[in-house]
Amino acid sequence: MIELKQVSKWYGHTQVLDDCSTQVAKGEVVVVCGPSGSGKSTLIKTVNGLEPFQKGEIIVDGVSVGASSTNLPKLRARIGMVFQSFELFPHLTVTQNLKLAQIKVLGRSDQESGARAKTLLERVGLQAHQEKYPGQLSGGQQQRVAIARALAMDPIAMLFDEPTSALDPEMVNEVLDVMVDLAREGMTMMVVTHEMGFARKVADRVVFMDAGKIVEDCTNDDFFGQLEARSERAQQFLSKIL
Ligand code: ADP
Ligand code: MG
Repeated sequence: MIELKQVSKWYGHTQVLDDCSTQVAKGEVVVVCGPSGSGKSTLIKTVNGLEPFQKGEIIVDGVSVGASSTNLPKLRARIGMVFQSFELFPHLTVTQNLKLAQIKVLGRSDQESGARAKTLLERVGLQAHQEKYPGQLSGGQQQRVAIARALAMDPIAMLFDEPTSALDPEMVNEVLDVMVDLAREGMTMMVVTHEMGFARKVADRVVFMDAGKIVEDCTNDDFFGQLEARSERAQQFLSKIL
């Protein structure tokens, strides 16, 4: 579903991605972790064309992201993205947040988009908050709205960039629970997170980045079950967060 082949990226003279290759199969969950500044956000944003890259190739569902002929807005509409900062429209209600892109981008009717919004808000446990504005919700609730809004577009894959790191600790699990359900339902997911309990539970593979490089790309069992076989850098990192 997602394939990165030897992707490199520079900001000016600074290289931030160095020959990164990995893939996410349909229905697979890949967790990306690593120290701050290692290039995780940059990597995940190249996948839906939010960050250009200078070398290599990224193929998403058969479409080359970097090709000049690629319709990026169309591709982006098919890939859900959830950020650390929820990025909801503050002047729209929860329901309006979920309906907007369905109507504008997918051409759905008011009724159809509303029905889809309702179903998804029930799924993330927010049916009681449909007519509220984002500012009236907790961080955990806002992030669940952001996930529901991404799902309303019927994405072929979901990208998450540290979705729980801006949340108060007591709200982390309500968001992770939604993501666990999504993973178990077979959604293709690429998740930047340091929540290793989540990774252990649902990741098929774990990618560890350091200084723009993919240092480890291994199965869940190899990553967590054979820590002693991991690179020194990965072990150091894990010893700080586990
Ligand atoms: P991570 O998400 O792992 O913390 P990032 O992908 O955000 O790392 O950043 C990787 C590197 O790229 C960092 O050294 C960061 O300072 C640099 N960087 C990120 N965005 C920009 C930018 N817009 N201009 C210049 N450098 C950037
Ligand atoms: Mg980041």
